[in-house]
Amino acid sequence: MQADSINPCRVSLLAVKNLKVHFPVKPGRFRRQHETVKAVDDVSFSLAPGETLGLVGESGCGKSTLGRAILRLVEPTAGEIFLAGENITRLAGAELRSRRRRFQMIFQDPFGSLNPRFTVEDIVGEALDIHGLTDSAAARRKRIAELLESVGLDAGYAQRYPHEFSGGQRQRIGIARALAVEPELIICDEPVSALDVSVQAQIINLLRDLQQQRGLAYLFIAHDLAVVEHISHRVLVMYLGKIVEAAEARDIIRSPQHPYTQALISAVPEVDPDAKRQRIILPGDVPSPIHPPAGCPFHPRCPVAEARCRTDPPPLRESGKNRIVACHLAGADSQTF
Ligand code: SF4
Repeated sequence: MQADSINPCRVSLLAVKNLKVHFPVKPGRFRRQHETVKAVDDVSFSLAPGETLGLVGESGCGKSTLGRAILRLVEPTAGEIFLAGENITRLAGAELRSRRRRFQMIFQDPFGSLNPRFTVEDIVGEALDIHGLTDSAAARRKRIAELLESVGLDAGYAQRYPHEFSGGQRQRIGIARALAVEPELIICDEPVSALDVSVQAQIINLLRDLQQQRGLAYLFIAHDLAVVEHISHRVLVMYLGKIVEAAEARDIIRSPQHPYTQALISAVPEVDPDAKRQRIILPGDVPSPIHPPAGCPFHPRCPVAEARCRTDPPPLRESGKNRIVACHLAGADSQTF
């Protein structure tokens, strides 16, 4: 069972099938043999035009590597990536560059991702130049002004440098740069986690407005379910390189089934001050992806693990309408989790 099976939309803009990204680890002082980090391990899902798919999990669970592999910024070890039905997994050179117009990325660090020596006009205009999207200097300036205004920035800022802007304004510049090539899909890699809470809401609202105006699809990567909840139609939860639960956003938030999802949601503040969610504190850290635990990879931290969880990996299977879960107890009385 794969996460694309819960996508009720028939048309896929992006389809990821059995994707693996494994990194070799060389022998060193404390390691005699070559070993492998399974950063992304057999992940499948699909994304419809105009949809936002949230991808959540703790740091090191493989979600950013998955985003980069889709953009081919890291090479997949196995599996396939389809963009609007075309297999782009092995494209290279000019062919890959031409497809990159269709999908862009927004990064976590809005300062680090902008060249400090470039003006805003240089930064946003670079993508226009690479893809030959304007045919005169005047058209280029006009387009850059439109892009800045579309993300809520004054067009008069075009000659300023990144250090002259706040974190939220810098993220808006990054969004304008991504929009320059009129993509259909934007991979948002923790786009608000470096920002203050009030600024986070402004950027989320901007992304939502742009989605409605332009029909954009987002793969929205975050470690914080509270952020993902506000923007996503569906949510995938990753743990140690694998999807452990996928469902529509409201269902995941209201009735998480996997014990790991339940722990993540227990940390999300309630909107209703009278509602009391019991916080689930997981013991220990995420295990090393070089030596993942046998059986269910979550079993050393799982509050309801059984004997079989130490030996038998739980398959990802349907558990109710439009939901898949990798847990032996899923579909049983979820109150017992
Ligand atoms: Fe916990 Fe077992 Fe379910 Fe894994 S399979 S999440 S260890 S109950």
